[in-house]
Amino acid sequence: MQTVVNTETTQLFIIGGGPTGLTASILLSQLGVPHILVERRTGPQPAPAAHVVNTRSMEIFRQAGLPMDEIYALNSHPQARYVTWSTDLKSAPIGKFDLLGDEGRLLARMNMSQDRVANISQPKLEMALAEKAASFDGADIRMGWEWKGFRKDGTSLVQAPDGTEVGIEAAYTLAADGAGSPVARALGVKKNGPETIAQFLNLSCKVDLTKIVGEREVLLYWCLDPEIFGTCIVHDPKNLTVFMVPLFGPLESYDDARCAGMLDKLFGPDVPYELLYKGVWNMSAQVAERYRVGNVFLLGDAAHRFPPTGGLGLNSGVCDAHNLVWKIAARLQGSAADELLDSYEIERKPVAQRNCDKSYSNNDGLQNILTAIGLDPAKGLNQPIHELLEAASAPDEKGEAIRARVNEAVENERDHFDAPGMEVGFIYHGGCALSAASGATPDNDAGSFEPRALPGARLPHVVLEGMPGVASTLDVIAYDAYTLFTDGSAPAVTQPTFGMPTKVLDISSESFAANKARVAEALELKAGQWILVRPDGHVAARG
Ligand SMILES: Cc1cc2nc3c(=O)[nH]c(=O)nc-3n(C[C@H](O)[C@H](O)[C@H](O)COP(=O)(O)OP(=O)(O)OC[C@H]3O[C@@H](n4cnc5c(N)ncnc54)[C@H](O)[C@@H]3O)c2cc1C
Repeated sequence: MQTVVNTETTQLFIIGGGPTGLTASILLSQLGVPHILVERRTGPQPAPAAHVVNTRSMEIFRQAGLPMDEIYALNSHPQARYVTWSTDLKSAPIGKFDLLGDEGRLLARMNMSQDRVANISQPKLEMALAEKAASFDGADIRMGWEWKGFRKDGTSLVQAPDGTEVGIEAAYTLAADGAGSPVARALGVKKNGPETIAQFLNLSCKVDLTKIVGEREVLLYWCLDPEIFGTCIVHDPKNLTVFMVPLFGPLESYDDARCAGMLDKLFGPDVPYELLYKGVWNMSAQVAERYRVGNVFLLGDAAHRFPPTGGLGLNSGVCDAHNLVWKIAARLQGSAADELLDSYEIERKPVAQRNCDKSYSNNDGLQNILTAIGLDPAKGLNQPIHELLEAASAPDEKGEAIRARVNEAVENERDHFDAPGMEVGFIYHGGCALSAASGATPDNDAGSFEPRALPGARLPHVVLEGMPGVASTLDVIAYDAYTLFTDGSAPAVTQPTFGMPTKVLDISSESFAANKARVAEALELKAGQWILVRPDGHVAARG
């Protein structure tokens, strides 16, 4: 007997309730698009993976209406300032990187945005996103529901927690189902790039690290002692440290006893710890060949998987959602042509490739630091590591010379850890939502960011004073409309706005009086000129 499956209909169907799917859900709700989201987990994500939530993600969360004070309060390591390389947690650093950099870099970051990078453990961020996503009437968030596949007619088959199967028919489907993306596999979408560069164990521990290192402002410790070779990511100095161990040898050899031995040595005999999570993950560097198949779109890790060196994975997923959602809403609600949706892949895929390449080269660049210490990365454990580390740590002239060399190598990797050009400086080239001139906008190097109000670039942040409820030019951009900045006379703008309304802001008007000079200078806006900004804050055109 054939089972009859009920089919539900929705405008939008999201598969996956990680950071990407949840951001998409919140943005859709802000635009009044009803949708269903299925997430196969029943509770929060167990593995604390991401912790660097970058400036652009924070700006997007602000535009999405998240309570920003509460989001910043999730930062459980606000003093984080350094990345170090040392023998173990207790020993003095052989190399040290200052994430804040010099005064010039700090000032540039402060001028770049009203928002800033925050260290938020991924499960905590996801819980905040999930709470916001569930607060909208139009969002049907289903935890414990699993997407099982596409049926012959293209509709989705999902399984409820009680085992019941339900069909979902949607105008559009967003696959935010993570690195293993069952949807991408079902669609036969290939991913270019290496699937396994290395494998790592994630050993997440409840531990008070301050009992070992004091109140040190370190975010990442690269421990080089061969018995505990790995990276400690400090999510919360008093509560949560994730120890990332590269696998040398088969996974089976890392049994519980061996892992406990490593953690005992890492934390020492006097500091209690509890292993909260043990899992293995693949370091990959892949970008999907296609982001769209019919009315199904791939977002986040489903579309790209980067080495975590650079902290660009979660952040790229947030930007993917932000780029796509307003376009889909315009298509569903207005008169936008289907080609607007094609611009998602045209715009986001090159950014993903750039992020992927940079994350990969960041990972490679770490080898230069080991080389400066005197280690040969190719030899692995087959070298006198203890002797080399002792020499590099010695309080003598030779040791000092090695440390100077190491710190030079560390500084050469600055744009691994401090990359405003990747965070907010990515440019959309081409794409039907931009003027043809967009190709002329220069890319920012990873390590630098020059705010320019040119097509494809994110609108420069300019502080706005005396305007109720807004503190930045980015705050006046509406997600449900184009925004046209003018200076005086009304221009004849011929750029398409895809059936969406246009909000006109005349910087010569009374309300801008206190800000006009600054805005005009930063946006390079002279009398009679205009700048058209997309709902996602990227400049569409200027004239
Ligand atoms: C060690 C480490 C450190 C990292 N650090 C950073 C960092 O500092 N900054 C950063 O930006 N990124 C970082 N990342 C990357 C980041 O964790 C990922 O990029 C991010 O989780 C991707 O989010 P996502 O929502 O696209 O996918 P995921 O987080 O993988 O979410 C996908 C969701 O889909 C669900 N799902 C899958 N299949 C189905 C199905 N069939 N039905 C229903 N639901 C399904 C899954 O349960 C999951 O919850 C790090 C990664 C690692 C491993």
